Amino acid sequence: MKVFKFGGASVKNADAVKNVASILSLFEGQKLTVVVSAMGKTTNKLEEIVLALKNRDRKTFTCLIEELELFHEYILADLFTEKHFSIYNTLEEIFEELKEKINKPFSENESFEYDQIVSLGEVISSHIVTAFLIEQSFSAHWMDARQLVRTDNNYQEGKVDWNKTEALIQSKFMPEFSTSNILVTQGFVGHTAEGFTTTLGREGSDYTAGIFAFCGNAESVTIWKDVPGMLNADPKYFEDTIKLDKISFKEAIELSYYGASVIHPKTIKPLQNKGIPLFVKSFIEPKADGTVIQSSTSNDELVPSFIFKKEQTLFSFTPKDFSFIVEENLSDIFNRLSVAKAKINLMQNSALSFSILMDGNKIYPSTILEQFSEMYEVRYNEGLELVTIRHYDDATINRVTKDKEIILQQRTRYTARFVLKSL
Ligand code: ASP
Ligand code: MG
Repeated sequence: MKVFKFGGASVKNADAVKNVASILSLFEGQKLTVVVSAMGKTTNKLEEIVLALKNRDRKTFTCLIEELELFHEYILADLFTEKHFSIYNTLEEIFEELKEKINKPFSENESFEYDQIVSLGEVISSHIVTAFLIEQSFSAHWMDARQLVRTDNNYQEGKVDWNKTEALIQSKFMPEFSTSNILVTQGFVGHTAEGFTTTLGREGSDYTAGIFAFCGNAESVTIWKDVPGMLNADPKYFEDTIKLDKISFKEAIELSYYGASVIHPKTIKPLQNKGIPLFVKSFIEPKADGTVIQSSTSNDELVPSFIFKKEQTLFSFTPKDFSFIVEENLSDIFNRLSVAKAKINLMQNSALSFSILMDGNKIYPSTILEQFSEMYEVRYNEGLELVTIRHYDDATINRVTKDKEIILQQRTRYTARFVLKSL
């Protein structure tokens, strides 16, 4: 069995869905698990719907649902010429149930409510894709990931129960391949032991592909994207990007740790554990090679990779009592950071001060000041850029630091990191 994952952009309209079918036709006769995301920007729309529901804003709520329904109906109209298809009824039922929510109380647990609603994007898209494949005479069957992926009840960030999930996929999912070649299911969703729907965190569909591959012992995973593979930098920030043909699981984990955003970071670990290769390929050029992520590290050093994080804020803390930055202070600093819910991109200390770098759009200086100013002198510098280079050399360093002031730098054997300020 192979696992294919099609993200939001690869099912964003009727032509995209037709393209999915044409890709699948290249794999005729093979057993495929097809994991799909919500179509286009549906997840964002559903998040707005949850907000309107929470605010009891009936007008916005109704309006947003109508827009979303229309968006999907356009796609249906283009995919299916006859109106009597049961897919129309399936969608109508889902939307009717959604509309009814405004007449019911909003749960005290907002994340619970979020998951019950936001998961519907994947449910809808998987129904549409399956119906279209069946219409095109594929041997396809719809499977409900909300009954297969077991998580805890940490809504919006469900933690996978691997033993239960593996048992469910082995007993309820894999046997379906005896009657269908293609099993279509939803990314991003799961369920609690009580049977309530959970989600795995935004962009979690890649992770679902990893879960099905691990639990179903897949021979490979392919993530179909609108890029030719994994590039050595984000083309938004970098000219002349190079495709990475082959990298190791370890390298892919490093890259995503430093902020490369091609693959959801949790996806790789389960694949690495079973040595299941992960392909990143273009849905526009499905026959092209793309990138393969696998066990061998032999190619990792061939191409340097660059990861850019903009809008960074650097905070520096100096104890007011003139004590040195020793263990005791460090644990106090980390406690305060954890209270402030700070996510740290880089840290560094000297004898007298401790510095951390964070995403400027995720934390307000006032939140940090509130936690620290009593005991520490706090200084901060906004609008910085963090550049990480994997497999650096002098030329690559010169390239990224040109016309910039280096505020701070860290180098290890394979990784160089610079906090930069534009001159
Ligand atoms: N639809 C979800 C999201 O947009 C999950 C995914 O696409 O991976 O976050
Ligand atoms: Mg997506």
